[in-house]
Amino acid sequence: MKSNHIVIIGGGIAGCMTAMELVKRGCRVTVVERNQIASQTSGESSWAGAGLVFPLLPWMYRDEVSRLALAGANQYPAVSAQLLKETGIDPECIQSGMLIKPPFDETIATQWCMRNQVPFQKIGDDLLLPQVAQIRNPRLLQALKQWLICHKVTLLEQTQLLPIANTAALNQWQTTTGDMLEADLFIVTSGAWSYELLKETSSKLAIKPMRGQILLYQLPVNTLPHIVYQDGFYLLQRQDGYLLAGSTLEDVGFDTSVTETAKLEMQAKAEAILPALKGMPIHKHWSGLRPGTPENLPTISQHPTIPNLYLNTGHFRYGVTMAPASATLISDLILGDHPEIDPSPYRCLT
Ligand SMILES: Cc1cc2nc3c(=O)[nH]c(=O)nc-3n(C[C@H](O)[C@H](O)[C@H](O)COP(=O)(O)OP(=O)(O)OC[C@H]3O[C@@H](n4cnc5c(N)ncnc54)[C@H](O)[C@@H]3O)c2cc1C
Repeated sequence: MKSNHIVIIGGGIAGCMTAMELVKRGCRVTVVERNQIASQTSGESSWAGAGLVFPLLPWMYRDEVSRLALAGANQYPAVSAQLLKETGIDPECIQSGMLIKPPFDETIATQWCMRNQVPFQKIGDDLLLPQVAQIRNPRLLQALKQWLICHKVTLLEQTQLLPIANTAALNQWQTTTGDMLEADLFIVTSGAWSYELLKETSSKLAIKPMRGQILLYQLPVNTLPHIVYQDGFYLLQRQDGYLLAGSTLEDVGFDTSVTETAKLEMQAKAEAILPALKGMPIHKHWSGLRPGTPENLPTISQHPTIPNLYLNTGHFRYGVTMAPASATLISDLILGDHPEIDPSPYRCLT
């Protein structure tokens, strides 16, 4: 298996992290991306995300979601340090901690923290999770891209694959320009577009785009020492002072536009948490399409009828957080290594 050729479809965080993991295990890998890796062209989620390396109110999700998210979060300091050392690009993985403001159920929250060995501190009515980290998505993607280039991964950018028909054996996959890409094994990591690619073969794949918008401000550094979360909304500040405020959760298909209504709503919520933002100019406003799935449960598995097709997609709100653990799991499944995480909850196609 190890010397065989694997083609990964989609160069977002799921695709790049999977490629990195497979290369570390000795595989020959090509990543196919219809746009440019590490750029924001038409709604790619990984560039657009905020980069909290933790779920928002994790106690609201099924254990399988938290398990994958916590496993991913635990891997980030080492992955980030390796990327910085080997590429010189700093993904800025910073343990800034997350301050959760009411309303939240304190008993459920603290019991979840104790059960999952997540340290917490009560500060008045707030709950601080001091070990929660953030990462700077565009830098993370640039570092991953550079790492893949250094490790001789073929990156086929500006190359889009067509949807496939049902088949018993998948030896080649056609691009929109008529070329045929050959491989021994294919992995779909195409985010919100995964269902479009596979709908003829996988009608049960429940992935749809869920738009998220974010506002960017610029403030003096260290204005906000922690990520702050309140009532479905968060603020987080980068090392150089840029502050992200988000996000929306909208079911509007593949529409990637940003809206004035969302901007005004987000501005009001941001100012309610941090009054210093009143009157501050908005530096940037963008959107991304999350790969939305029921219950936030990704599909990480072999295709039920095409044996050399795998999926690692549908990570919805926590694809950045889950990416390292998800890459480990899909690589274990492909290479027949014993997975540390039980894969059965993520076989969403059967
Ligand atoms: C506003 C917002 C905030 C978020 N905040 C967080 C957060 O704080 N923490 C967190 O963990 N997650 C967050 N997320 C979610 C996270 O960003 C996603 O779960 C994750 O990026 C999904 O990664 P992906 O690689 O599956 O998808 P994508 O990044 O969308 O990548 C899929 C790639 O596949 C390519 N592609 C699609 N079809 C084809 C084709 N036919 N041929 C070739 N290439 C193709 C696309 O161009 C794209 O680059 C946020 C998302 C948004 C939108």
